[in-house]
Amino acid sequence: MNIYAHPTFDMAQRQFDLVADLLAIPDNDRGWLKFPKRALTVACPVRMDDGSTRVFAGYRVQHHFALGPTKGGLRYHPDVTLGEVAALALWMSWKCALTGLPYGGAKGGISVDARSLSPGELERLTRRYTQEVVNFIGPQVDIPAPDVGTNEQVMAWLMDTYSTHAGHAVPAVVTGKPVHLGGSLGRREATGRGVAYLAGRAMDTLGLEASGATAVVQGYGNVGAVAAQSLVKQGLKVIGVSDVGGGIHNAAGIDLRRLEAWFAEHRTILGFPEAEPIANADLLTLPCDVLVPAALERQITAENAGQLRCRVIAEGANGPTTPEADEILNRRGDVFVVPDILCNAGGVVVSYFEWVQDLQSFFWSEGEVMDKLFRILEGAFQSTLNVSRKQNLPMRTAALSLGIRRVWEAKKSRGLFP
Ligand code: GLU
Repeated sequence: MNIYAHPTFDMAQRQFDLVADLLAIPDNDRGWLKFPKRALTVACPVRMDDGSTRVFAGYRVQHHFALGPTKGGLRYHPDVTLGEVAALALWMSWKCALTGLPYGGAKGGISVDARSLSPGELERLTRRYTQEVVNFIGPQVDIPAPDVGTNEQVMAWLMDTYSTHAGHAVPAVVTGKPVHLGGSLGRREATGRGVAYLAGRAMDTLGLEASGATAVVQGYGNVGAVAAQSLVKQGLKVIGVSDVGGGIHNAAGIDLRRLEAWFAEHRTILGFPEAEPIANADLLTLPCDVLVPAALERQITAENAGQLRCRVIAEGANGPTTPEADEILNRRGDVFVVPDILCNAGGVVVSYFEWVQDLQSFFWSEGEVMDKLFRILEGAFQSTLNVSRKQNLPMRTAALSLGIRRVWEAKKSRGLFP
């Protein structure tokens, strides 16, 4: 029985199998590479504000330790399952390997609608989860970070709980912390800025002008909102955005500063008076130059892949495109895909910088952070494009083959113990 059975885990496994065939990885080595090393399931009982006790299921999955500690976000979402978290851990491994970071992949999650909890409940849940996984995380073991539904405050509670156990402050146990607690300048913006940068590189590759081009962004969280703002700085017009409640559309372009003000007041983009409401399904198929899926997995599927009317897909989310949709897009050949493990890698790259700064207690300027970030993203983009062109492979297969090969080689060199 596969304890990870879940459509998202199947998706990551299919991606692995395709690349394993391409790289001619012997069957003997495959099981060793495609399943997580460790998976922890914990029950987190939490005293609620009304005096009742609720128990939340939490997970932490660590894929491999061949290159260093494991690294990856912590997700709070009602649909979180062990299988989903495991898939996200595999993608973290290949993302870190593609960008040359000394980490294996990990991911954690709690099955909870964080928006339905009070700040006190959220804090107690976070501290309880940290307590339950405290022996499995650490600066040289596994380093969590924000993901969907978590933020700097959650990371601060996690760091505090871990540090209380250690008896001293351990900032390097998590990344994506507040800057005044040992976080890195530029970490909050890193994923979204990286997505916009790589969308721009994809447009250059196709010979498309940024100025006056159009973008649609699905998901208005930390990744989507920053990506949208950065695309506007690059000269694009954002004509559609969505959040959990639905989407908005204005063909003339949405004024993001005014949308920001609306969002700050209403905690949703819905109802923004300078745009029309649009259903999520219709948002994805709007004609545009750049489509940024920055929400959850499996949004671009066999059902809508044939109808997309964009030139570039810049994957801010992890796993937004199913293998069936990939096949359709590959056959179409008219959409340039910047795959997730490359496109959204800016977050973990700056997480790596944060970890290095914490370990050295020596902090960098935002300029240094951004300069080093774009250099790494540019290198990863170039290598992926080269492999894609030389071997006539889709960008996703090229990126995965670079990441998976590095993990495979590291494991082979270290050998099997004993
Ligand atoms: N959750 C983010 C991701 O999926 C960031 C992980 C990290 O910074 O460790 O890449």
